[in-house]
Amino acid sequence: MMQAVQLFGKNVIKNVEVPQPQIKDNEILVQVKAAAICGSDVRMIQNGYPGVNETHPLTLGHEVSGIIAKVGAAVSGYEVGQRVAIAPNMGCGICDQCVSGNTHLCSNYQAFGINLPGGFAQYLKIPAKAVRQGNLAPLPEELDFATAAIVEPLSCVFNGQKIAQVYPGDKVLIIGAGPIGIMHAMLALAQGAQKVMMNDLNESRLQIVHEILPDVITITNADLKAAIAENTDQKGVDLCIIAAPAAPAQEASFDYMAMNGRLLFFGGLPQNREPVKLNTNLLHYKQLRLYGCTRASLSTYRQTLAFAASGRLPLSKLITARYSIDDFSLAYQNARDGQGLKNVIEFK
Ligand SMILES: [Zn+2]
Ligand SMILES: [Zn+2]
Repeated sequence: MMQAVQLFGKNVIKNVEVPQPQIKDNEILVQVKAAAICGSDVRMIQNGYPGVNETHPLTLGHEVSGIIAKVGAAVSGYEVGQRVAIAPNMGCGICDQCVSGNTHLCSNYQAFGINLPGGFAQYLKIPAKAVRQGNLAPLPEELDFATAAIVEPLSCVFNGQKIAQVYPGDKVLIIGAGPIGIMHAMLALAQGAQKVMMNDLNESRLQIVHEILPDVITITNADLKAAIAENTDQKGVDLCIIAAPAAPAQEASFDYMAMNGRLLFFGGLPQNREPVKLNTNLLHYKQLRLYGCTRASLSTYRQTLAFAASGRLPLSKLITARYSIDDFSLAYQNARDGQGLKNVIEFK
C-alpha cells in the first residue's frame, strides 16, 4: 500500500491508502521525492474535474521528481536508483502534432495528475507510452528534487518565451506576480531584457518580488499606465506577458505597448467568462503581435531542466514552503490563499 492524495469531486480531497501501482514489462515505477502544488491543482479541487467523482477519484500532482524504483524487463535506457524529473504530458505518438515533437498539443493528450494518476503519492507508474516518448529525464546532479519538481511550470514559461521572444534590450511588462509571473521575470532578465516591470493587485506579492529579484521594477495597479510611460520614455513596452487570469488585464494590455511590440497571453481565464474585448485597431496601428501558449514539449522540458541546472535562475527562492504528504491539506490551503509562492510536498 502507499499514501496518496486524491480528488473525489469538487472541494473533496482526501489522504488515502491505495495499492502501490504494479508495472508491466514496458513500464517504469518511480518513487516520488517531490511534487509541487500548481494553480491548476487548486482549480481542479475548487471546480471539480470531468470524470472525477466518489467512485472515480484521481491522484493529483503533475510537477514531479523522484527515483526509479522498478524498471520493466522490456525497458532499456533507465535503471533502478536513477534520479529523474518527470514531464507530465504525453501524446498518442502517431498524430501530426506528436510526430512533429509537439506531444503536448496532441488532441488525445494525457497527463499525470490531470487524467492519469499523478505525483501526490509515494509511487507513480510511468506508462509505456510515456517511457517511449521520453517523459522521464535524468536529473542533473546540481538539482535537488524540490527544484526539479518546479522545472515543469518553468518549462511552460520557456515555451511561452520561445514563442513570443525576448530580445536583448527589451522593456518587458509582466502582469501577475505569482510563481509563473516571477519565473517569466527571471527568464526575461536572463535573456537580456533591459527593464522588467511587474504589476499585481497584491502588494505583498510585489514585496516578495522585490526581495527575490531586486532588479525588477514593481508597480501597483493604481499607477500602472503612468509608471510604464515613465519607465519607457513614453514609448510603451516591447513585450507584455499576462500571467494572471484576468480578462480586464488582457483588454487593457494593448494600451501599454510600444510600436511593433509583442504580447503573450500566458494561461487561461476562469470558465464561463464573457469573451475578452480587444481593441484590434491598436493591434493594427501599432503593428502588434499577439501570442498564446500552452504546456511545453518534451524537448523544451529537457532544455529547461538543463538550464535550471546551470544555476542561472534563482529558482529555489520560489520554494517558500515544504510539507510532508500528511500535511497536504495545509499545503493546499496555503496555495489556494496565495500564501508564499511554490508549496512543495516532499517524500522521505
Ligand atoms: Zn502546473
Ligand atoms: Zn498525438
